[in-house]
Amino acid sequence: MSQHFDLIAIGGGSGGLAVAEKAAQLGRRVAVVESGKLGGTCVNAGCVPKKVMWFGAQLAAAVADAPGYGIAAQSQGLDWSKLVAGRQRYVAAINEYWDGYVERQGITRIQGQARFVDAKTIAVGDQHYSADHLVIATGGRPIVPRMPGAELGITSDGFFALETRPKRVAIIGGGYIGVELAGVLRAFGSEVTVVALEDRLLFLFDPMISETLAENMSAEGIEMRLEFEVAALEQDADGLSLVARDGARLSGFDTILWAVGRAPNTRELNLEAAGVKAQPNGIIPTDAFQNTNVPGIYALGDVTGRDPLTPVAIAAGRRLGERLFGGKPDLKLDYENIPTVVFTHPPIGKVGLTEPEARDRFGDTLTVYETAFTPMRYALNDHGPKTAMKLICAGPEERVVGIHMIGDGVDEMLQGFAVALKMGATKADLDNTVAIHPCSAEELVTLKVPVRRPG
Ligand SMILES: Cc1cc2nc3c(=O)[nH]c(=O)nc-3n(C[C@H](O)[C@H](O)[C@H](O)COP(=O)(O)OP(=O)(O)OC[C@H]3O[C@@H](n4cnc5c(N)ncnc54)[C@H](O)[C@@H]3O)c2cc1C
Repeated sequence: MSQHFDLIAIGGGSGGLAVAEKAAQLGRRVAVVESGKLGGTCVNAGCVPKKVMWFGAQLAAAVADAPGYGIAAQSQGLDWSKLVAGRQRYVAAINEYWDGYVERQGITRIQGQARFVDAKTIAVGDQHYSADHLVIATGGRPIVPRMPGAELGITSDGFFALETRPKRVAIIGGGYIGVELAGVLRAFGSEVTVVALEDRLLFLFDPMISETLAENMSAEGIEMRLEFEVAALEQDADGLSLVARDGARLSGFDTILWAVGRAPNTRELNLEAAGVKAQPNGIIPTDAFQNTNVPGIYALGDVTGRDPLTPVAIAAGRRLGERLFGGKPDLKLDYENIPTVVFTHPPIGKVGLTEPEARDRFGDTLTVYETAFTPMRYALNDHGPKTAMKLICAGPEERVVGIHMIGDGVDEMLQGFAVALKMGATKADLDNTVAIHPCSAEELVTLKVPVRRPG
């Protein structure tokens, strides 16, 4: 005999919890199935513990800069165990919050691994549960490529399990997780080498971001080996080594970290039993309304391969819940112009199109403004990471179609500018906004001479 619900969310991460919460608030009978802890990747092995480490790294850098301001601070070193213990206490408090919240919302929590029995039923252990609406929100896990010695490396999950700070670490992957963890470890004093297959870091970002990031990372003492195709990991007498396809070798690491992407958690779901189609890489395609190919089964969040970000999974989940039960049959998430931040040192923010993407879409009608400077914050220091900003405008009305920034504070700056871009702001709207002085953000509303004009 199976228990029946209006909606079951498979996965208690950002997306699953969001759709379950919305459906429960709208008075429906809802269950969440979670094999691990509530909160998913973001809370347990993603955004939250990562940002705690990032705050720690920012503080470590600030201590180093304090003497320039006459503050007689000197780092006495890092107590990694204390940092990690504090971080995990914070994470545990969020888990606890979710446990209580789910209960208070009247959502049934089912602990275990779900697999489909048919298009309306799942099994968890030997119990069956059915629902009118089933939402797949199972997220993803880090990829470890198949190659000799691959198991010698850890992943971002392993990073959060480290009991001591690595002294010499190689990070394989120049995507956002790779560069973020590189920045954290370097600020804490590790020797860091980032290895990437591509000819630039963050190759999906605007080229200006990649260039400035490389400049800042290099100034911090992070080594970068680009166009390096890792073929094997080996254990030598003096530590771990990376061997490239062309025979090049990087040696002497105590830790190697894979940051080469994430794969969707769909293999264990027995999707065939429900008739849900997935791509060969496991990604579940959906239409604009999060519908899979099977009526009554939906997918959202990382498992769909679209913008793998927590707020995207949450926004898609809330809209789906409201579409199904809130009398809003046309509600869907607009995936255009999603802002994103990379927590490097200093951070990166972007919304809209990169310059190459904008050129593909708008041809020769683009006007591009750029600026680069060292923020005033470093006025009394003999060094300071570079800040760079780019504004991409299209057409004679100069509608802002891309904003790209790297520098202190851009993580907090971006949200408001993303609202403006989404509302269709033009360069004239930015010019008409009085600047706030002195700060880095004012540069975005005082850009005067374009570096590239239409034509
Ligand atoms: C290191 C790192 C840093 C990140 N930093 C950021 C950041 O700064 N900002 C940001 O926006 N995003 C960040 N992300 C991405 C963000 O964590 C994800 O986009 C987000 O968690 C996706 O939510 P989701 O609901 O799709 O999946 P998840 O949050 O991954 O939740 C899926 C849940 O499903 C469970 N599950 C899987 N299979 C089953 C099954 N068969 N049965 C039951 N349960 C199952 C899993 O245990 C998991 O809890 C980061 C990710 C990583 C790895």
